[in-house]
Amino acid sequence: MRTLALIVAAGSGLRVGGERPKQYQLLNGRPVLCRTVEAFLHHPKVDEVRVVIAKDHGERYAQALAEYPLPPPIFGGKTRQQSVLLGLEALEKEGVLGSETMVLIHDGARPFVSSGLVTRLLEALCSHTVVIPALPVVETVVLAEGQGVASLLERERVKRLQTPQGFLGSDLLRAHRRAREEGVSFSDDGSLAHWFGLSVHLCPGEESNVKLTTPHDFQAHDPAPPRFPVVGQGFDVHAFTEGDHVTICGVRIPHTKALLGHSDADVALHALTDAILGTLGEGDIGVHFPPTDPQWKGAPSDIFLRHALSLLQGRGGVLAHADITLVAEGPKFSPHLEAMKARLSDLLSLEKHHIAIKATTSEGLGFVGRGEGIVAFATATCYL
Ligand code: MG
Repeated sequence: MRTLALIVAAGSGLRVGGERPKQYQLLNGRPVLCRTVEAFLHHPKVDEVRVVIAKDHGERYAQALAEYPLPPPIFGGKTRQQSVLLGLEALEKEGVLGSETMVLIHDGARPFVSSGLVTRLLEALCSHTVVIPALPVVETVVLAEGQGVASLLERERVKRLQTPQGFLGSDLLRAHRRAREEGVSFSDDGSLAHWFGLSVHLCPGEESNVKLTTPHDFQAHDPAPPRFPVVGQGFDVHAFTEGDHVTICGVRIPHTKALLGHSDADVALHALTDAILGTLGEGDIGVHFPPTDPQWKGAPSDIFLRHALSLLQGRGGVLAHADITLVAEGPKFSPHLEAMKARLSDLLSLEKHHIAIKATTSEGLGFVGRGEGIVAFATATCYL
């Protein structure tokens, strides 16, 4: 008994979007068709795998499947039915389609077919001539007529048919030739075999054995690579000088002094910028914006923060949480905390409940206690 797998991958497959047919689109970094072919190549009971492709996909096919030990592809036709027929005729011509041959016909865009399903089909083919995997329907099903209901269907008797579909010998080829003569078309080989009069045996299919059809199918089965959390910390101090306000978290706060600095001396944004750079291992704010560079004189510090965020984004990261602690004897921050949070929420594109701003004094101790400046600590939690 010889087992052949005929994979039908001749469709234009453009419903999923993009210029590349779906069977050649990447799924977890590899063309869909590679994964489909592997499922059969790796199965111990499958002797030969043949792929039916579109005439103008020769180059794509050669590129995608270069590493696999496969005979040359067979060129298909305009419809799936024509492609299967051309595939079977090619096998017959090569003399490999005998009465003892088990043929599995499979959609190229069903890459998740399991080894267990293939085994079940081959076992069932020992006692049936046609075996089709079928799944139950969970929704209520009716026969529609336009927008109306023509009749109700018994859900228990309605099944969804999948591939691979198994056939013994060359019965399917005869059925296909008859269908060609009579000009009838079917969406799969099981229905065509039933129409021809072959007895079709249903075996349990698998929900995971989906046919990738829409962009959603690709997204659902190609999850983004896992992210991991990284926490960065930042610290900054600015001394007071003469003036009438300070800028903290981008908010102007009236005060009897100002903060001394090359930029606007926003100590909180500097600490937060360093925290974000910390998650990336990208040095600190002074490396990216040297204080010796006159272009940053008096600059609003959100420039620095935006730069750190763009580096984070460039690495595929996202900021999940920012936590800032200010230490100062004055000004009083509490009346401004909401405005500071709102400003940060805008700058960071982060919900307010993922932003913490706390203020404390140093109980009169040290340089902060003597009212000589403001300290800011920050942590940034990012997912990379
Ligand atoms: Mg600073």
